[in-house]
Amino acid sequence: MTHSQKLTPEALADLRERYRKERERRVRPDGARQYLAAEAEFGYYAADPYAGAAAAREPVRDRVDVAVVGGGFGGVLAGARLRRLGVARVRVIEKGGDFGGTWYWNRYPDIHCDIESHVYLPMLDETGYVPEWKYAPGAEIRRHAVRIAEKSDLYADALFSTAVTSLSWDDASGAWLVTTDRGDAFLATYVVTATGTLSELKLPGIPGIERFAGHTFHTSRWDYAYTGGTVDGGLTGLADKRVGIVGTGATGIQVVPKLAEDAGHLYVFQRTPSTVDVRANRRTTARDVGADRHGWATERRDNFLRIVSGERAEEDLVADRWTSSAALLEKLLPSFRRPDDRAAFEAAYEVADAAKMNEIRARVEEIVTDPDTAEKLKPWYRYACKRPTFSDLYLQVFNRDDVTLVDTADTHGIERMTERGVVVGDTEYVLDCLIFATGFSVGVSGIHSGRLPVHGRGGTRLRDAWAARGPHTLHGFTSNGFPNLIQLGGTQSASSVNYTHVLDEHAVHAAALVAAAEATGSLIEPSRETEDAWIAGLAENAADHEWFHAECTPGYYNAEGRGRPGGPTAYPHGAVAFHALLKRWREESMHQALRPRDPARS
Ligand code: NDP
Repeated sequence: MTHSQKLTPEALADLRERYRKERERRVRPDGARQYLAAEAEFGYYAADPYAGAAAAREPVRDRVDVAVVGGGFGGVLAGARLRRLGVARVRVIEKGGDFGGTWYWNRYPDIHCDIESHVYLPMLDETGYVPEWKYAPGAEIRRHAVRIAEKSDLYADALFSTAVTSLSWDDASGAWLVTTDRGDAFLATYVVTATGTLSELKLPGIPGIERFAGHTFHTSRWDYAYTGGTVDGGLTGLADKRVGIVGTGATGIQVVPKLAEDAGHLYVFQRTPSTVDVRANRRTTARDVGADRHGWATERRDNFLRIVSGERAEEDLVADRWTSSAALLEKLLPSFRRPDDRAAFEAAYEVADAAKMNEIRARVEEIVTDPDTAEKLKPWYRYACKRPTFSDLYLQVFNRDDVTLVDTADTHGIERMTERGVVVGDTEYVLDCLIFATGFSVGVSGIHSGRLPVHGRGGTRLRDAWAARGPHTLHGFTSNGFPNLIQLGGTQSASSVNYTHVLDEHAVHAAALVAAAEATGSLIEPSRETEDAWIAGLAENAADHEWFHAECTPGYYNAEGRGRPGGPTAYPHGAVAFHALLKRWREESMHQALRPRDPARS
């Protein structure tokens, strides 16, 4: 079906059938078990390539007000918001050598954020910073995390190149004992975990992966010593090399054009093509974004969130492909609203979706000259099945003679690896280097995976408590039995594509909880009944978009084609409503999460 073809009922039925077949080509019986954890199971990356060996220091054995686990945007924002409420001792503990989180580790060539910088970079109103490009490069984003940390005086107490190894609640001292891999053992009255969703690298468990004798690395630990060059390109070390890359998600799409420029020959191993929409990056001025007005950034960020969450907005300030596609996203992002006539709504939605996907597929045809290659690059699934990507360079790469697209869908990905290279079907592709743009275990924080053990009251492990009865929280932040522990950006809350905005709202909430507990001499700990009521509310609408994900092509949105994990995992009315709910709750019902400090009195 082409872009211009009319979306008749027959055409839509054909499309449905095509999507089903394409999904079948990719679903694997091993689901999410097809991946290896890069560090734990593959032994990759014990060392930090940017900070080098950590400088020796004495172990810390004191008491602070708040320990913040993780120095990405979540941790930096939690620290900044706590400081603004007057909390004196905030200690951020971070594995990397500096603040930045995902933007600290990911420094691959041409790394940018594809969410507009004026809404992605948090606290622009507070810091006075105005980004110069519509879509900022990674280094600028990292510098901004540092800027917020500096302005909030977070360096003084921070521990870098340090991983928290356990968190244990101590009733006697009314504090958490925090231990680390550097021998630290200190107390913190409160703990905020901001361990991120994109921190655990994954590699495909391709049979024979360990036999490959060539060079390998993951995009989030780019090996410039091997490739030469910088984030801007000039990868001269690859000039005579046969280079392979696995993965064509948001990372692969950004990095492939730079690899194509410099590799002797580039093989792109693709399983599922991304939707590659227009990016149109450009310089902007303060005037363009209205940065002369107080509060401009907060207003712009709220406007973006409203639009991508399907809420009504007077105007579209960002006006890019995220917002122009929002008519589609509206129906499927968590703000999904129950229409009166469900069947009519679904039918209208399907037409809108097909029109958008036809536009995406037509773009492939327009740009890629070889029809066979173009066919392989066309995505056959509904728009919101995978995270959309944006590039004005990626598809063009496949018109080069020194780039080969290898479609691996029929074999559910690369079949196996040998000492010399990669096998797909009957062909062995001999390679000098294979780069994994295979992403992260999305949503798996150290706390949920158990890699960071958390022992609450009476020594109960959070993981065991949740394994027995499913995750139990109030708003995703706090849990009964785990006093003064606040989890950021986690389960049973609401998320958005503009994740730093979500983190900032959560950081504001975390800081308010700490301030309220301090002001009233309380512990932060919701009752079981309060948690149960919250979870019951989540469950009411939770099933609404299950059907959609169940029919999608596999990916981390749907647990690799198996549907979402059991239990309500998200607030069903979207981030805008969730943030409003939190604000109202802070004003009216904060006592629900507080209890007297002495448990004997409760
Ligand atoms: P993703 O998880 O999105 O993509 C992984 C890729 O690896 C997919 O194309 C996947 O194919 C492929 N893959 C995995 N296993 C195999 C296999 N055995 N054989 C062949 N291909 C395989 O990782 P990314 O690093 O691209 O993105 C991670 C996260 O970071 C996402 O949330 C993304 O949105 C975010 N990000 C955001 C950016 C931004 O600008 N805001 C920039 C970059 C990343 P398949 O689809 O078939 O599973």
